[in-house]
Amino acid sequence: QAPFDVARLRQDFPVLAREVHGKPLIYLDNAATSQTPQQVIDVFSDYYSRYNANIHRGLHTLADEATAAFEGTRHKVRAFLNAEDARQIIFTRGTTEAINLVVQSWGRKNLAPGDEVLISMLEHHSNIVPWQLLAAEIGFTIKVIPVEANGALDMAAYRALLSESTKLVAVNHVSNALGTINPVQEMAALAHQHGALILIDGAQAAPHQVVDVQAIDADFYAFSGHKVYGPTGVGVLYGKQALLEAMPPWQGGGEMIKTVSFGAGTTFADFPHKFEAGTPAIAEVIALGRALEWVESVGVAAIGEWEGQLLDRATQAAGRIDGLRILGTAPQKAGVLSFVVEGAHSQDIGLLIDQLGVAIRTGHHCAQPLLHHFGVDATCRASFAAYNTFEEVDSFIEALNRVIGMVR
Ligand code: PMP
Repeated sequence: QAPFDVARLRQDFPVLAREVHGKPLIYLDNAATSQTPQQVIDVFSDYYSRYNANIHRGLHTLADEATAAFEGTRHKVRAFLNAEDARQIIFTRGTTEAINLVVQSWGRKNLAPGDEVLISMLEHHSNIVPWQLLAAEIGFTIKVIPVEANGALDMAAYRALLSESTKLVAVNHVSNALGTINPVQEMAALAHQHGALILIDGAQAAPHQVVDVQAIDADFYAFSGHKVYGPTGVGVLYGKQALLEAMPPWQGGGEMIKTVSFGAGTTFADFPHKFEAGTPAIAEVIALGRALEWVESVGVAAIGEWEGQLLDRATQAAGRIDGLRILGTAPQKAGVLSFVVEGAHSQDIGLLIDQLGVAIRTGHHCAQPLLHHFGVDATCRASFAAYNTFEEVDSFIEALNRVIGMVR
């Protein structure tokens, strides 16, 4: 196996050459959004200079080219997730919209008072709040799978929570706040034994590990373009065919209909178009396809392995810092280092370390229930991507030590 050529792949990312406050940028906020390779950036100028056109309905050359490129991404995403059929890939604005689609379409039709939806303590707000909004209207119950002290899901508690009332389990594949990798395949099997569906929020998994929706037996799987080296404004919902077939449309408009009339009723397109009302983010979808090609040219498994090495190095070094506490030490963990430092506010650390060129995230990471569970309001979070290096990890730790010395 060839060694991971990080120096080569860094050259694909123009932003990595820039300086921040006179220091070389060390970008460790990849769980929030990843940087974009030139190949993906080029899609935008190519699209708008050569074949910008609305898709699916034009009979002219530009519309044909745009439609082919747009639909080409659907096939690439199908392969990326190992879905059975490209029609199971629905384009959304991101993970958030993908989850809201399931909540508003599947949830509104299938949930009733007395039903239960299980989510976990690890969820991002985007997999909490949409369920709360609908529960407030319909009156079903949301139950929360607790976590162990190390940030792993409490699987015994999960088993105990599952019952005949459980209609759906909504859980992230990888936690953005702690990095915990959840045993989604086992969780899906358990959910299915109880006749429940499983929706998996894969926003933090898709960039870092091979995802096989058939092996997992996921009913729904969501991820975002901007975390897999693609653009913002585009994401994906995968669903099983029978579910998508039975689900009503969520948003209405152009593109999602077969016929529209005032008297005889309106009929809807088949999935995926039934769920894609209006002109989509055409250039973004095409660019997402290019991003997935980039990821596969490097190898998503190789990327995850590399990030694991970066995480190990950072974890060991951070563990030697006096008063630093790492949140999330589950054995199955992706490249996320979340920590608090005694006597230093996370926000101060974030602001000061930025002065040294290091971009980390500070705050609640859209996971307030989880952070409150651990007794904190905020953490500092360094999260790794394919282009980060051992030297950057060492510089980050050195900068962190300096900053802690300044604030204590
Ligand atoms: N779920 C998880 C686990 C996430 O990390 C994020 C993004 N931070 C989201 C959902 C929401 O993704 P988006 O903002 O791209 O819709």
